[in-house]
Amino acid sequence: MSEAANEKTLAEQAPPSYECRACGYTYVPSKGDSKNNIPPGTLFTDLPKSWKCPVCGARKTAFVNIGATDAPSGFAENLNYGFGVNNLTPGQKNLLIFGALLLGFLFFLSLYALG
Ligand SMILES: [Zn+2]
Repeated sequence: MSEAANEKTLAEQAPPSYECRACGYTYVPSKGDSKNNIPPGTLFTDLPKSWKCPVCGARKTAFVNIGATDAPSGFAENLNYGFGVNNLTPGQKNLLIFGALLLGFLFFLSLYALG
C-alpha cells in the first residue's frame, strides 16, 4: 500500500481552470481549445500571449483562476469520510467499479449453470 499512498488524487494533479470574466467561458486545460488549435493538456499559463477567449475575444488578462474543475468535487477534509472510496485514486476507483461489474457479470453467467 506504500506505493498507493504516494499517488496523488485527481484533484491534486489537475491543473487549474480559468474563467473569462467578460463572458463566463471556462478554459479547462484537459480539454484545450479546439477553436484556437490549442491541444488538450495545455496549461492556461502555457497558452500563447496572443491567445484570446474563443467566445468573446477577451485577452488572457481577463481570465481568473477558478481552480480545478475537472477533478473530484468536495473538500479535502471530507475525503476520509464514507467508506474510504473518496480517498482512492481514479485508477483504484476504476478497478473497483469495473472489477465489481465483472464480478456481477460472472454471477449473472453462473445463473445459466444452475439451469
Ligand atoms: Zn470571454
